[in-house]
Amino acid sequence: MITFAAKVETFTNSKNIARYAFGRGAVRGLETLLAARRTTADDFVVFFVDAFFRGRLGSLAFPVRPQDLLVFVETALEPTTDLADHMTANVRKHSAKAPCCVVGMGGGITLDVAKAVANLLTNGGKAEDFQGWDLVKKPALYKIGIPTVSGTGAEASRTCVLMNEKKNLKLGMNSEFTLYDQLILDPDLTESVPKEQYFYTGMDTYIHCIESLAGSYRHPVGDAFSHEALRLVSEVFDSNEMMALANREKLMVASYLGGCAIANSYVGVVHPFSAGLSVVLGIHHCLANCLVMNQMQDYYPRETAHFKKMLKAQGITLPSDVCRGLSDGQMERLYQSTVIHERPLTNALGVHYKDTLTLRKVRELFQRI
Ligand code: NAD
Ligand code: ZN
Repeated sequence: MITFAAKVETFTNSKNIARYAFGRGAVRGLETLLAARRTTADDFVVFFVDAFFRGRLGSLAFPVRPQDLLVFVETALEPTTDLADHMTANVRKHSAKAPCCVVGMGGGITLDVAKAVANLLTNGGKAEDFQGWDLVKKPALYKIGIPTVSGTGAEASRTCVLMNEKKNLKLGMNSEFTLYDQLILDPDLTESVPKEQYFYTGMDTYIHCIESLAGSYRHPVGDAFSHEALRLVSEVFDSNEMMALANREKLMVASYLGGCAIANSYVGVVHPFSAGLSVVLGIHHCLANCLVMNQMQDYYPRETAHFKKMLKAQGITLPSDVCRGLSDGQMERLYQSTVIHERPLTNALGVHYKDTLTLRKVRELFQRI
């Protein structure tokens, strides 16, 4: 006899990126993709490009036309809701007409800014109105993502992370509409990434995947993405030439898969602590993750040992004494901005996570960083 489930227990309908072009030189295909979007003479494209590429776009034959808007995104600070609102207003000022395409080219910061603006241009309102789950009501503008450093998975995920300074909160616009419509994955673009940055950002994939595989909220497809991403990341960082072309290719694939995995799962203990460091001390996401991962022996013992091995293999030294001499007020803020992350902490430690993640425990952990 066949036994069918009597009812649907949970019904999540997942979506991943519809199209992606992968390979060396793939970025040169951008012109053809954009030509297909430009149907009238006054159609224009908005490009958000990491400021590192200022003065370097010529050698990529970047297809910017006179009517387009080219915005270089500075990365000294992680993006805020105010920045997203400001960038959106600038696009509206540029033309009363909506752009035919939004292009984001850069690291996680730039990819996220482009995603946020594409949502805001069609939905109206302010960025902070959409921080949370499934609050974006209308499809975003068509957008193309081109990552230039691998690891966050921002190119493939359904969120764009923004700091909300007034609310002391770091949270994304989690929505299917936030997904890019098209990706260009060109491993030549990551050759110029500084070594430390390459390691920190690459480790975001490692951390996303170990956290989701250790969590209680599981999804068989998400698990498969995570396992494969983890295998590739380990190959890259266990090797002795993490930035060789073959490894940059692998890391680009791993980052993409890791981003797909996150759509079907949640992170765990590392990301909430890391968010605390970003909100209170302004430390960038991927470095903050590494600082926390280095102290995760109580929660992820095997993975923490592996992480330390990869640090050593790549000759990376993390900053130390980052939390030394913090005031009680700062510690309290660190605690609050860590335990606020209910979904990942419940995923990792269960609904009563605050019973074990006490102020004392959190403080002790931060003091080791
Ligand atoms: P980033 O955007 O913070 O950039 C890091 C640095 O690398 C910058 O100085 C940038 O100019 C430089 N850079 C980028 N590409 C380069 C290149 N090819 N050559 C030389 N320098 C280059 O990078 P990141 O670590 O990818 O992104 C971190 C951000 O991503 C954070 O804001 C974080 O919140 C966000 N994030 C988003 C998601 C998501 O799913 N949307 C997931 C994780 C993290
Ligand atoms: Zn992350």
